[in-house]
Amino acid sequence: MWFLQRPDAANVWKNETVCSRYSRYKGILDGNKIPRYLISMKLAVDISFEEPLEKLWEAHEQAAKEFKEYLLKIDTEKVPLNKLPSPEKSFLDLKEKIAYKILQECHFCERRCGTNRAQGKIGFCRLGKDSYISSAFAHTGEESVLVPSGTIFFTGCTFTCVFCQNSDISQEWGDAIENKVSEGVKVTSKQVALMAEKLWKEGVRNINLVGGDPTPNLHTIISALKHFGKSITILWNSNTYQSLEATKLLLELMDFWLPDFKFWENDFAKKMSGVNNYQEIISRNIKLAYDEGSGEILIRHLIMPGRVEQDTFPILEWCAKEVPNALINLMDQYRPEYLVRRKPSLYNSINQRITPAEWQKATEKADALGLLWKPVS
Ligand code: SF4
Repeated sequence: MWFLQRPDAANVWKNETVCSRYSRYKGILDGNKIPRYLISMKLAVDISFEEPLEKLWEAHEQAAKEFKEYLLKIDTEKVPLNKLPSPEKSFLDLKEKIAYKILQECHFCERRCGTNRAQGKIGFCRLGKDSYISSAFAHTGEESVLVPSGTIFFTGCTFTCVFCQNSDISQEWGDAIENKVSEGVKVTSKQVALMAEKLWKEGVRNINLVGGDPTPNLHTIISALKHFGKSITILWNSNTYQSLEATKLLLELMDFWLPDFKFWENDFAKKMSGVNNYQEIISRNIKLAYDEGSGEILIRHLIMPGRVEQDTFPILEWCAKEVPNALINLMDQYRPEYLVRRKPSLYNSINQRITPAEWQKATEKADALGLLWKPVS
């Protein structure tokens, strides 16, 4: 049984601060709160879906405002889901429509390739219109508040991390890849919903959308939610490089956010993960989730060797100032993998694990800033 393997997963809910910071997630676990995506399914929108994208976004902006009031009313008055009328066209339908329009000129992530994936063209993330899954299971190795977590691993990624620990599903899979090491299973949105339902029946605490990275699969994910319909927390577990538009689509769907925040210095992020403007984009998306979304966030910070002062310290300072109620998973498990292991001379500075002294400096800094990290690290 999972709770015998992970007694911390039961004990963590004795921590009053954790309960108060994740009160809505806890409410969904206890059966007295409704997941956001189910509320989005009940909120009516009044627009023709044949309108251009710009008009759909205007309707989305209006619906997002109404959603806040609707959610507050449902939470305050404890309205059960079956008492809410089902509209002809819902906010979730609108989000799905926008996602499929974005796919025609893809800007799900801030690479903004503009690829017409709807026609099957392949973007930087190695994905066309189809989504692929490498595995889906009840994960008992995630943070204490999450396990057992109904983890669905999508293939493909918007990053090219040279130290990737999941390169088999992020960068080295699929027909277009020379020397591929793995293959995903092509799935429809209905099949994703069935996988989620199977996990839900197994008693997981949440549906954990991850990869690779889930971002390029947003159209499939939104459609899957329409088929799913179970009362369980939906969790976004991502490198967090999704575009502003994708973030807006997610805000009323995700109950819980599990963003990575690895780097502070953009030059280092570019060298390690191949992306521009890392700091601005990741901090923007986390701040939006905090202020405009559920606000229930667990930030994963992977401490990199030799980078405590340059990356860890400023990231922790930013968290303390901008998202003080987020919990932080300080991760000490960095190990050289993928290209760092294969071409060590190119990545000498990170071809090692972090030292005990680096771990101590990072944890002391988090404590000095008053951050809550121990229950989830
Ligand atoms: S998800 Fe990002 S990398 Fe993939 S096609 Fe879209 S914009 Fe490009």
